[in-house]
Amino acid sequence: MILDTDLTGRTVLVLGAAHAARRALRRYAHAAASVRTLTAPGQVAAADLTGIDLVAAVADGDPGWAPVLDGLRSRFLVVTEPAAAPGGQIILIGGGPGIEDLLTLAARKALREADVVLYDRLGPCENLAELTHGAELVDVGKRPGHHAVPQRDIEALMVDHARAGKTVVRLKGGDPYVFGRGREEVAAAVAAGIPVSVVPGVTSAVSVPAAADIPVTHREVSHLFTVVSGHAPLTEAEHEHLAGLGGTIVVLMGMGTLHQLLAGLRRAGLAPGTPVAVVERGYRLDQATTYSTVGEAASRGTLARCTNPAVVVIGEVVRLGRDCPAGIAAGVEALTGAVA
Ligand code: SAH
Repeated sequence: MILDTDLTGRTVLVLGAAHAARRALRRYAHAAASVRTLTAPGQVAAADLTGIDLVAAVADGDPGWAPVLDGLRSRFLVVTEPAAAPGGQIILIGGGPGIEDLLTLAARKALREADVVLYDRLGPCENLAELTHGAELVDVGKRPGHHAVPQRDIEALMVDHARAGKTVVRLKGGDPYVFGRGREEVAAAVAAGIPVSVVPGVTSAVSVPAAADIPVTHREVSHLFTVVSGHAPLTEAEHEHLAGLGGTIVVLMGMGTLHQLLAGLRRAGLAPGTPVAVVERGYRLDQATTYSTVGEAASRGTLARCTNPAVVVIGEVVRLGRDCPAGIAAGVEALTGAVA
């Protein structure tokens, strides 16, 4: 149970076997309570209970607590706490594009249950201490060109903590299975025989364009979208396939190769007037959208100053974006009229 009450300086007695009680202990300590603990029913009779404001009884499965708690209820406010999960486990969470509002309820629940959180900076990480009620937080952040903690080491860290009986949350930006190496981490857990689950997240591929009011599909404008990684340059055949699809192209991790991509799409026949938008730092206070066209960006480098993290959108839907300059948005009335 989570009391919506200020426990600062209050004394809370947590009752329950150590492993089962660890989450409750951490939460009360995080709430700035002064925490005492007794791990077995037999310890209560001899304990000094003066100054106790609240008794938190963890349901650790020991039937010996029932008569002890009956005795305590006449003197103290007693609340019941669920036991922490017995064995170690790993939960991969998609954290969305970086703001807490776009965390799912399942992600919030897993964060509350976490003993350890391994996170990187694209997910919502500013308020993790609150969201987790004080779990151990480890920044394994990867930025382009900077592999702070190598992938294999992240996997080893996850497995080691879980083997120690902890609930390990691996918090990733967006969705774990969209350019997130999520399946490799699941495989590492499975190989180590550790229970693992995945909580999907709101991918930046769709949500960051939406932050600039750019829909990735729109009736009679685009009925397909392709999500591409710009981590490495595409091949000429890939440029041709993409240019031939006639839908929306969304590029993640694309700033380093954007010029090559646009030049390649031009060579493959994509019309130079095709609009492009780069949405930088979606949902952050300093979110910025830059509009151009494939021809202009390829020849004059109008998007050269944009930096990661950014999502690139190429296609007619860009004309629908918020504050799209009139020259690029031309004809947009007809597009929006199509849904009226
Ligand atoms: N799994 C993630 C993508 C990881 S690849 C997802 O589903 O969203 C990292 C890339 O995601 C970045 O280079 C950038 O292209 C994009 N990205 C993630 N969050 C972003 C944000 N808030 N604003 C702009 N781009 C973002």
